[in-house]
Amino acid sequence: MYNITLIPGDGIGPEVADAAKRVIDASGVKINWEIQNAGEHVMQEYGTPLPNHVIESIKKNKVALKGPITTPIGTGFRSVNVALRKELNLYANIRPCKTFKGIPSRYENIDLIIVRENTEDLYAGIEHMVGEDAAESIKIITRKGSERIVRYAFELAKKENRRKVTAVHKANIMKCTDGLFLEVSREVAQEFPEIQFEDMIVDAMCMKLVQVPENYDVLVMPNLYGDIISDLCAGLIGGLGVAPGANIGTDGAVFEPIHGSAPKRAGQNLANPTATILSGVMMLRYLGENDSANAIEKAVKEIISKGEKVTYDLGGSTGTSEFADAIIEMI
Ligand code: NAD
Repeated sequence: MYNITLIPGDGIGPEVADAAKRVIDASGVKINWEIQNAGEHVMQEYGTPLPNHVIESIKKNKVALKGPITTPIGTGFRSVNVALRKELNLYANIRPCKTFKGIPSRYENIDLIIVRENTEDLYAGIEHMVGEDAAESIKIITRKGSERIVRYAFELAKKENRRKVTAVHKANIMKCTDGLFLEVSREVAQEFPEIQFEDMIVDAMCMKLVQVPENYDVLVMPNLYGDIISDLCAGLIGGLGVAPGANIGTDGAVFEPIHGSAPKRAGQNLANPTATILSGVMMLRYLGENDSANAIEKAVKEIISKGEKVTYDLGGSTGTSEFADAIIEMI
């Protein structure tokens, strides 16, 4: 029996998290879910969108599955998602992007893994106004942070028999920060001579990913580029509804879809739960529960390839909950 923290989140979060929880339970793995709420809706009760007991629950259980949480734009509280990643030192954000049959996409055979640094860069959130008409944000890149994420990418490539790691940067302009990331990437690459290494400037990378995504394999990059490129790659494989993710640290892991809380779709039983379910599959593999993980993944693929009981974004009209029911039946 595993104790796992479940953070439903807000917007479409509770709907996709519930679907994922039901599917995971149906796979036979025994989980005692500890449900913890975070986000704007708990502000009034706890005075913060990320109460301490939520962090304590993850620290105790070491593993969490999380739905998306809204972050107010421009003003208001800082991102709960960024705070969680920093607080728990979840330094590696792993986002696999893979096409599979039945998903409407212009591309075939995409099989990329994005490894995004999760604690540094402009996401350190050190910014301030300079007078009334200017603002400044500080971009932090450290040797330690770069080294551990690039090493993580190479080790992942090795473990999963991948052929190439591409480091993504903008070192032509940001010579100190991205320059350091690139320098460290080149150093770490030398420790893995069996894996091909190349680097690419982020703007060129965007174009290449749209033109020839099959040329790439594992991509490693600082935080902001990772955020943007993950959505681009989700677009290559049929959209945010099918793109899972994991935040891995030294003392625990939080699994969550790439997508946000999609407020316009909230509460309507419309959202695609696949991304959250596949984040659950990543969680089960992390726990070593490979049979359950494989059974869920197989059922998800079968339901999607049949195309009858899928959500709106995959060309169907099935609700979140009925889509989960179909997967459960298939399992
Ligand atoms: P979003 O990912 O919520 O939505 C972008 C588009 O994708 C929308 O058209 C939406 O309807 C669609 N979409 C997203 N998930 C879907 C799903 N499961 N099924 C079907 N369609 C789906 O991005 P946004 O609108 O830019 O952000 C909304 C909020 O979410 C913001 O407050 C943002 O800060 C937050 N956010 C949170 C996380 C997180 O919790 N990790 C990640 C990204 C964004």
